[in-house]
Amino acid sequence: MHIKPGVDFSRLEPEIVSALWKASEIYERHGHIMTLTSGREKADGRKKNSKHPQGLAADVRTRNLPGALHKKILDEIKAALGPQYYLMLKATPEPHIHIHFNGISP
Ligand SMILES: [Zn+2]
Repeated sequence: MHIKPGVDFSRLEPEIVSALWKASEIYERHGHIMTLTSGREKADGRKKNSKHPQGLAADVRTRNLPGALHKKILDEIKAALGPQYYLMLKATPEPHIHIHFNGISP
């Protein structure tokens, strides 16, 4: 996994760290290196109830992937993480998958 300069990777909750690990393996299975583009740092356009400042959300880049892989990788990460996680393809500020933890830890 690459980490975009300026991204705060520290103090992410274990639920997100483990999700990033699994997501990264899925990228690699398709021959791509995943880049973390957002963690806990402040960013323009965050919603008030964003889980980013709590360390319970992360964004990973999709703009380097061929178009056909965006949805495929999204679906595979969703299946790997299960219903405790919410994932969404977003177009701004650059194409990425937003992942946050909604559920209850085991
Ligand atoms: Zn996000």
